[in-house]
Formats: sequence, C-alpha cells, structure tokens
Amino acid sequence: MSLKIHRIPAFRDNYFWLFHQDGASGATVVDPGDAEPVLRALATLGLQLDAILATHHHPDHIGGIPALSNLGQIPVYGPYSNKIPFVTHPLADGDRVEFGGLVFQVIAVPGHTLDHLAYYMSTDIDRPVVFCGDTLFAGGCGRLFEGTPQQMLESLKKIASLDSRTLIYCAHEYTQANLEFASVVEPGNTALTQRRRQVDLLRANGTPTIPTDLATELKTNPFLRCNLPEVIRSAKLRDGSTNFDASEANVFRVIRSWKDKFQPGSRPP
Ligand SMILES: [Zn+2]
Repeated sequence: MSLKIHRIPAFRDNYFWLFHQDGASGATVVDPGDAEPVLRALATLGLQLDAILATHHHPDHIGGIPALSNLGQIPVYGPYSNKIPFVTHPLADGDRVEFGGLVFQVIAVPGHTLDHLAYYMSTDIDRPVVFCGDTLFAGGCGRLFEGTPQQMLESLKKIASLDSRTLIYCAHEYTQANLEFASVVEPGNTALTQRRRQVDLLRANGTPTIPTDLATELKTNPFLRCNLPEVIRSAKLRDGSTNFDASEANVFRVIRSWKDKFQPGSRPP
C-alpha cells in the first residue's frame, strides 16, 4: 500500500497535510486552519475531501474546519474537547481510526495543549508516519501553553519510542530557528552542526524541511536529549542554581523556558 501525503503551506509558517491512498480520490486533511488553501489543493490534485483530522484546538489548526465540514457533512475527527465543538468523532489515547483504508493509532500527547493528539501509522507502508501537530517539531518542540514540563516530556518520549524511521509531519516550519537554539544548547554536537548547515541551505532556497524523521531528531533535537551530559551542563549553566536538579524533567523545563525567551543571535549561557 502506498500513502500519498501532500503539503499545504498556509499562514506564515503552517503546514496542513492532505493524505490519501495512492490511486484513491478521497483524501483526509490534517489541521486545516484555513479552508481556502485546502480547497485549492483538492482542486489542483483532483481529490475530494472525505475526512478532517485535528490534533488540537488552536485556531491555526481548526479555523477552516467549519467551512470544510459544511461542504458535504464531512466527518471531523479530533480530541474530545469542548474547545473543538465541531468534532463529530471524538478520539482518545489508544483508539484506532481508519481513513480510506489507512489505519492510524491515536496517541495522547498533552503539553502544548491538554487535548493534543498525535496520529501514527506503521502498518502496510514503507515508512511509518506520525502527524504530531505542535508537539515535536524538527529541532524543537511546542510551547507549553497548557501542560506541565513533565507532561510534555512524557509526550515527547512517546513519540521518541516509535520506530526511528518514522517520518514526522509536524505543523510548522520552525526548523531553522529551532536548530539555532539547539546549537546554543549543544555546541559540541557535530550531527547538529551538519544538520543546521543543510537546513540553512534549504531555507535559503525556500525549500521545506518537513517531514523530518525520528532518527534525525534523536540525534539533534535537544528536547529529546535532556538526559545527555552536554544538554544537562547547558541547562545547569542557564539555571545558575548551585543545587541544580539534573533530572530529565527539570532539564527539559529549563531548556523549554530558555527557548521561550531565546532571540536569534543569542550567545551560550
Ligand atoms: Zn498549537
């Protein structure tokens, strides 16, 4: 079986994802924050919309759902949450859900928001894929708007434990800025230095850097590396306390709040 995934760029740096089985005309859209670019993509590709999938309730992920679902009573799958009133098929951790013959596993990943879900598919395709919204980004992770650092760390670990060949379809093109921050946290990481150079070249040409893959993230994304010496050392320096708590959750907390304040061009602590 072959899965086709099309990127729909929207707003400043969002990607909506449109997928279908190769040869099938019915497609599913993930996180349509705006209806217009989805309708254009469907027309260009000669596809019809069969289902809508949401990862979490932020407007840039769900804003287009009312207009799209009204087209033909299209089912809307997403978290059980009063913040997405138009979900017709509420989902929760451990559910399995099928779109056009493609079966996805639902994984709860609270942290960025409390209702956040990721959708993972690993069977019958060459490489597993995950649609993870604003949880794991290429070179980074989502901000903590609702959850605790511990929750987000556990959510990221769920994604990190998937097949390392998994293609990561996140919802924003943040890679370049994320890797700049990552390089400050891990200046000694040569895989990261190489990746940053590649991504800078891609972005100079306006080329997307998503999807990324899990193996690359495990080697270069500091938020998946909070148990490693250089990340711990940087977090400790940043934190500045004499009795630094070097637990993974605390290292993650320090790195995440550091990133919140990070400005391009910042120097190591
Ligand atoms: Zn969000």
